Amino acid sequence: MTTLPNPSSPFLLPAPLGGTLVHRVRRAGHDFDPAELRGLPRLALGDRSYADLEMLATGAYSPLTGFLGEADYLSVVERMRLADGTPWSVPITLPVARDEAETYTGRVVLTHGGEDVGTLDVQERYDARKALEAREVYRTEDPAHPGVAALYAQGDVYLAGPVTLFEVPRGAFPLHHRTPAEVREVIEARGWRTTVAFQTRNPIHRAHEYLHKVTLELVDGLLLHPLVGTTKGDDVPAPTRVQAYEVLLDRYYPQARTLLSVYPAAMRYAGPREAILHALSRRNYGVTHFIVGRDHAGVGSYYGTYDAQEIFGNFTQEELGIQILKFEHTFYCKTCGQLVSPRTCPHGSEHHLVLSGTKVREKLRAGENLPGEFTRPEVAEVLRKAYAREG
Ligand code: ADP
Repeated sequence: MTTLPNPSSPFLLPAPLGGTLVHRVRRAGHDFDPAELRGLPRLALGDRSYADLEMLATGAYSPLTGFLGEADYLSVVERMRLADGTPWSVPITLPVARDEAETYTGRVVLTHGGEDVGTLDVQERYDARKALEAREVYRTEDPAHPGVAALYAQGDVYLAGPVTLFEVPRGAFPLHHRTPAEVREVIEARGWRTTVAFQTRNPIHRAHEYLHKVTLELVDGLLLHPLVGTTKGDDVPAPTRVQAYEVLLDRYYPQARTLLSVYPAAMRYAGPREAILHALSRRNYGVTHFIVGRDHAGVGSYYGTYDAQEIFGNFTQEELGIQILKFEHTFYCKTCGQLVSPRTCPHGSEHHLVLSGTKVREKLRAGENLPGEFTRPEVAEVLRKAYAREG
């Protein structure tokens, strides 16, 4: 049995991108007088922009301190770098309708669900280049792509400038909602010198578990980091997914080496570009390694199976500051009697059990059982109950 490193011996977590963890949470009544907000223009954020606000203000998107200005926007879209050359793959922008854009000047109070949630100091207002953004970031202009659809549905003008957030919205997952600084604290306290983060937006299945456990043979800790921001309508809702992670972690994972924490961002389905964003952001959470498997953050057949791995070749290891662990498609082989990949299994596809997310959802809707080789029964039970409730 291996032992974990001694937490009392000092070691350094990886530096956030840009060197400093951005922190722009300002509490009303503590850090500022709420009376200062009286009479300022209000801008109601949608769920996606609210998630971006949290990511920015808590440092998950360090070195960004706010929504991107035009020079950074174009540079990110066209060359996957901020204007100063720092790697950044997906533009973080704040869209508003053209006929409202002029009303937002100076300090603007951001609201969500009718509550004041933060501020934006408007420094720039500029036109979104939607067709260019779709082509470059999503590699398609097809409005059937959920990320492209969201892009086309939003306002045509982007506001830019530094933000503040009044409170980290932990409501939905109070036990698992941690800022990058808080995840860093846990990693330090547990003495993990190496930590792998796992991004996921799907119910956990045996292939995921296999990737986790193979990696845990090599690194000290696993940050299981499900995305809980907006996802497309037919994805399994975050509360159900988180419940499935809880039951699985409880029974099948080494507690001292695992941390379940939610990742509040919205899903963009930008495949390769989003894989880079996911990795850079996880570096800000203090992890050293990041898993990228098959069709990471993809949807439909817009991206090649391993495009999200190849795209990392555009950056040096030093620039990324996080090690990418690339896994081939993993599945159960009936003849091997275990989880395998094309790298480890000599048998043909007729020996393999492969279920797509769509197939899984179909089975769940029809009230059918999922095979144990695909999903642990405890997880299948959580999913089955959730789908039964949905009717
Ligand atoms: P995402 O949409 O962010 O890729 P998923 O939950 O579908 O979320 O996948 C989480 C991670 O696991 C991704 O890196 C993905 O590439 C990887 N992955 C999922 N299923 C498999 C599999 N069967 N084989 C290899 N990698 C996989």
